[in-house]
Amino acid sequence: MRALRLFGDRDTRLVDMEPPPPPGPGEVQLRMRAVALNHIDVWGWRGMAFAKRQMPLTVGAEAVGEVAALGAGVTGWRIGQRAVPYGALTCGACRACRDGRDNLCENVRGVKGFHVDGFAQELVNQDARLLVPVPEGVAVNDAACAAITFSTVEHMLFDNARLEPGETILIQAAGSGIGTVAVKMAKALGCTVIATAGSDEKCAQARALGADHVVNYVTDRFESVARKVTQKRGVDVVFEHVGATTWAGSLLCLRMGGRLVTCGSTSGVSAETNLMMIFQRQLRIFGSFGASMRNIADGLGKMAGGLTPVIDTVAPLEDFAGALERLESRRVFGKIVVTL
Ligand SMILES: [Zn+2]
Repeated sequence: MRALRLFGDRDTRLVDMEPPPPPGPGEVQLRMRAVALNHIDVWGWRGMAFAKRQMPLTVGAEAVGEVAALGAGVTGWRIGQRAVPYGALTCGACRACRDGRDNLCENVRGVKGFHVDGFAQELVNQDARLLVPVPEGVAVNDAACAAITFSTVEHMLFDNARLEPGETILIQAAGSGIGTVAVKMAKALGCTVIATAGSDEKCAQARALGADHVVNYVTDRFESVARKVTQKRGVDVVFEHVGATTWAGSLLCLRMGGRLVTCGSTSGVSAETNLMMIFQRQLRIFGSFGASMRNIADGLGKMAGGLTPVIDTVAPLEDFAGALERLESRRVFGKIVVTL
């Protein structure tokens, strides 16, 4: 079968390799259809070394496939049915797993496509318990964006920040994969959205998605816009994933008791924080990483209801590295999907 393997720093190659054995007890074999790209793929491709990582490995952390074969004891699935695989190897037995907080598993054995073989290969064996069915009517390239993109935003906005209808939210880097989804989900809920982006073109695209106010953070201060829009009160929620360059400003935008939720630090991991502002203004900060199986199912449900991801580019597997370069250079509005 064909597989896209990472051999070292920025060295991906499309190779022929042995397909996996027939699925074992409790496993499903998937024929992979599409993989969506995320910043975790960029980190991996840059050759970051981690103890759990074994190279070469098949890339692809977020994907969709079709059931090709069922292992012994697997029920509730049929051949040809589309499924979204969960990307982390959770234990299924610890307290967090039993409570449905999959991304807090105490014994996680790695992330597919990053630590261990991922989904950019024709056939993949996956534990049936780590599969989410794709509802009828959801396009395959949209479903490819469920496991990380949609679910991450679901987890950030609803499990962590507890965004409510009518609230005002500032969404940083609204042109990114998760940023575009956050704008659409917040608007669908009935929130006022202030979106930031790094160019006038992306600002116009964010407005077309439904953002009520847009700020080019290269030429304007988003803090001033947030203050003006909220009549100096501050926003209820900030959606962060930019990190160093926006962190202090993001905190400054919050109202008394406001909530900041963050899942990334693409501009750098260290930033100064005014602690007096945190306690005096009673701010709440949520770190968010990954999502639960339920978040994936909820995201797919929204797709079935018409809230679809923004797809910038669909590329063939051969162009995976070029697509990563585009993502790395931020010349993207929304998601890049690679088809198998
Ligand atoms: Zn667990």
